Amino acid sequence: MDIVDNLQKLLQELPAHVKLIAVSKTQHVHIIQQTYAAGQRVFGENKVQELLGKYPLLPRDIEWHFVGHLQTNKIKFLVPFVSMIHSIDSFRLLSEVNRFSQRYNRVVPILLQFHIATEESKFGFSIEEAVAMLESPEFQALRHIRPAGVMGMASFTDDMQRVRDEFRQLRSTFLDLKMKYFKDNEDFREVSMGMSNDYQIAIEEGSTMVRLGTILFGERNLMP
Ligand SMILES: *Cc1c(COP(=O)(O)O)cnc(C)c1O
Repeated sequence: MDIVDNLQKLLQELPAHVKLIAVSKTQHVHIIQQTYAAGQRVFGENKVQELLGKYPLLPRDIEWHFVGHLQTNKIKFLVPFVSMIHSIDSFRLLSEVNRFSQRYNRVVPILLQFHIATEESKFGFSIEEAVAMLESPEFQALRHIRPAGVMGMASFTDDMQRVRDEFRQLRSTFLDLKMKYFKDNEDFREVSMGMSNDYQIAIEEGSTMVRLGTILFGERNLMP
């Protein structure tokens, strides 16, 4: 498995409007370095502790995207350097990101994660919850977060029609929110959807960011 080959193939395959987030969770720092040397600058991690271990060892111009479930007590570690948080699924989380961003004098781009899968276990807003939040004065008062779009994970299933339907639903949610709440806001433009086993469908359904791990790096290491 040659990561540089995988990267080049993927970059040729992805349309210009689709950004590759190289999800490097469980991969060693030297693997990330190798991918960086081949030109990749955007990496995704899903555990704060793991990211905090890697971040100081790697080049400063890496854009770190946080894609995993986030606990409020970890936000303060992430906010000083993270480029985007994909996994905002409650107002509480968002207001904590805002609080620390203010402290660090930053404005942190965030995506609203939606629950599109049929599985109970996946996180995310329902449309009703997101609308209630977006219309609240508390949300509108947040000055240190930048809503940049939506994120979702499809069901873990072989039923690719179901996966397609879920992606389509996320894209349609994005368009609704864009029209109602972010019409003149150019920052609100991303639809983060698609992983190694479904990114081609996600792209057909309007993804602008694919989060790819296995297809780039191979199987995950059990011990990071
Ligand atoms: C691990 C992970 C990915 C990448 O998954 P692959 O199937 O290895 O491509 C994408 N998004 C999130 C949120 C993840 O946790």
